[in-house]
This record gives sequence, C-alpha cells and structure tokens, in this order.
Amino acid sequence: MKIETQCLHEGYEPGNGEPRALPIYQSTTYTYDSTEHIGKLFDLTAEGHMYSRISNPTVECVEKKIAALEGGVGALCTTSGQAASMIAIMNILEAGDHIIAASAIYGGTYNLINVTLRKFGIECTFVDQEAPVVELQKAFKPNTRAVFGETIANPAIAIFDIEKFAALAHANGVPLIVDNTFATPVLCRPFEFGADIVIHSTTKYMDGHAVQIGGVIVDGGKFDWTSGTFPGLTEPDASYHGVVYTRDFGSAAYITKARVQLMRDIGAYPSAMAAFLLNLGLETLVVRIERHCRNAEKVAEFLAVSSKVEFVNYPSLVNNRYHERAKKYLPLGASGVIAFSIRGGRENAVRFMDSLKLASNVVHVADIRTCVLHPASATHRQMNDEQLAAAGITPGLIRISVGIEHIDDILADIGQALAQV
Ligand code: PLP
Repeated sequence: MKIETQCLHEGYEPGNGEPRALPIYQSTTYTYDSTEHIGKLFDLTAEGHMYSRISNPTVECVEKKIAALEGGVGALCTTSGQAASMIAIMNILEAGDHIIAASAIYGGTYNLINVTLRKFGIECTFVDQEAPVVELQKAFKPNTRAVFGETIANPAIAIFDIEKFAALAHANGVPLIVDNTFATPVLCRPFEFGADIVIHSTTKYMDGHAVQIGGVIVDGGKFDWTSGTFPGLTEPDASYHGVVYTRDFGSAAYITKARVQLMRDIGAYPSAMAAFLLNLGLETLVVRIERHCRNAEKVAEFLAVSSKVEFVNYPSLVNNRYHERAKKYLPLGASGVIAFSIRGGRENAVRFMDSLKLASNVVHVADIRTCVLHPASATHRQMNDEQLAAAGITPGLIRISVGIEHIDDILADIGQALAQV
C-alpha cells in the first residue's frame, strides 16, 4: 500500500460486522479462561494483552500503523514524546554509559539528556552536527552506546545528515536514534537512510489537531545487538525468568524489551482514548502534511523578501544551507515549520508576535492552525546564550508553524504584523 492508504488502513482490519472505525477498548484488564494461559503471558511465551500499562488493543492498532508507516518491525506508543525519548535511550543505556547527541535537538530532549539522564549516571556529549566526521569521531568513548539526532531540528530547522551519522554510529558499534517528529514518515523515513530507532512526539503532526500529548518509539529491526555491549538485550532478564530478548524475539528484541521491561516499570503507556484520537490524526496525515508544506513554502518566500526580516531558515529556499540536503532527505517538502529572525532582536520579535491576529502565540507546533513561538523566551529559556547559539537560536528568532488555513489569510496576517515592527 502507498502511504496515503496505509494511513487509513494499516493496523486495524475489521472482520464481518465489526466496527469500521477503530474501537476504543477502554479496559485496564483482560480475561482469560485459564490460570495457565495467564502464566504464559507472564513468561512471554503466549501473545495477548494482560494489563493496559503494557499493551491495549486500541493502542496496539495504532502502534502497528505507525510501525508500517516508518517501515519498522514494531512500535511502542508512550504518553509523550519525552517519554518516548527517555525509554528509547534507557532501553540500551544505563549508569556508566555515554550518549552522543546533536546540540541542535529540541530543548526538552536536550534537558532530558543533559540534566535528568546525567542524574541517572548516563554521560553525554553534544556535538555540532555539521562538524566533519573526523571531529565527530573524537566524541566517541569506549562506553558510548548510542547517537541521537533530529531529522528536522526544532526550532533551528537544521536538517540532520542521517546517513553520515548512521555510518559513524555503526562504525563504532552503536545504533542511531532519530527523532522524526517534524518530518513524519510522509516526508522522511529515517530507516531507509540507516537509522536504527525512530522516535516521535505524536503530539505534533501525527495528532495534528492539538488535542493529545503522545509519543512513539519505532524499531527498525536491523541493528545487531549481539556484539556484547548491550547486555540488557543479550543476557537473561531475571524479571522474566531468564528471557533473552535477542534470542527469544529476534529482530523485535529492542522494542519487546522496551515494552515488557521498561514500560512495565515506568508506566508511561497511553490510554485507548488517546490512541483513538491519535489515529484520527494519522488518517489524514498525508493530506495535511502536503498542505502544510505548500503553505510554508509560500510563507518562507514572503518573509525572505521583507526588509523587516534578517534571515529565513526554510529548506525550500534555494539559498538555504540545507537546500541540497533537503532534496535528498525531504524530497516532498520540509514540513510547515519555518524559523526566521526579525531585525531588531528580541524587542521587535515580541512586537511582531503580539501583533498577529490569526496566528496563535502558543507553546506548540505542527498544528493545523498557524502558530508562533519565540524560543528564547519560551521553550529554550533555560539555555544560556552559548547553548542557544549552539542550538542555532538567535534572540530575535521566531518559529512559525504554518497551518492549513487559506494561504491568503496567513500572508495577510503576517503582513499586517510585520507592518507594526
Ligand atoms: N521531539 C521534538 C522534535 C519536539 O518538538 C518535542 C516537543 O515539542 C518533543 C520531542 C517532546 O514531545 P512531547 O511534548 O510530546 O513530550
């Protein structure tokens, strides 16, 4: 099936007389005829749902759909994108290990890695993703266990060279985890470029309507975990009577462990209702993304010729530093998110933001409605100037997330707000 069709039909296939729309199985628990069967569920030797902290039939359908969209062997939904990043990393790293991450990643992920995971004893090195391979190689240590980057970095709109980082990670025997939130599998499928694990904040385009926080981890199923450096996957799990994930679950070892061990212990599993809402978003993902991209291209051109604007960062613009790379990784478009800087720094940026009438000033992005954010005073305010610069953020930078309204209305709003500056 093509991706448009997958968005509608993957994951749930109703039988004769069954509901056409995805049913909401709002139940915490599942009944079985025998104690023996439940015992097998606990031993992971029988398939089935046991408790909705680990799996649920509605959520499972959505997981299957997203795994199919990304081309992975399995997926695990989470209650947020943050939970997806945390579980994706903790599934293979523990105290004493080290992770390399691109410094341009989303501020929340940066904090997670730089503050919280450090407290858990996980070391990190942030790298300039444009650095040459020889420089990047220096960041690897004997205890490095993963590399992390974002396809389209939020909010700098820096395009991650997935192939370069996949080759580097693999040469060092570790997997590449890619946050594909802004691109979605409609615009980029990181597994096709060598990524091993993909995560999403489904809160963004996948949901698309600003109704539900969520995340997902997708396993590409190709990474060889048996080198000896990932004992959590290759040595017996005492909490499951000695299950060995690579031996017992083959290519789905990583995603199975994430669910049955970490999700069991952390409990960040979404409700059936949350998955139902996410599925509604997924059904129209392709048509929405197409409109987001076409509208954003026009907004980027409009901003680029304004004397009030210092620079516009959007890959469809021919002079953009990521233009050529975007042709490779994002041939259908570069999402609806544009970063631009208004001349006059922070003060004029705030005046522009406050003058907008149609676009909402929200701490959100990738919504059907056009919205704006000033990262230096919101999502990234915990960073100092040096960290902001490393993430590609200037004091006057504005992130505009172009919605699917009529383009004339969007441009009229931006035009009148620019006139106030
Ligand atoms: N990754 C990216 C690229 C994001 O933009 C965000 C949130 O903005 C996250 C992860 C975290 O997702 P959530 O807000 O769903 O926890």
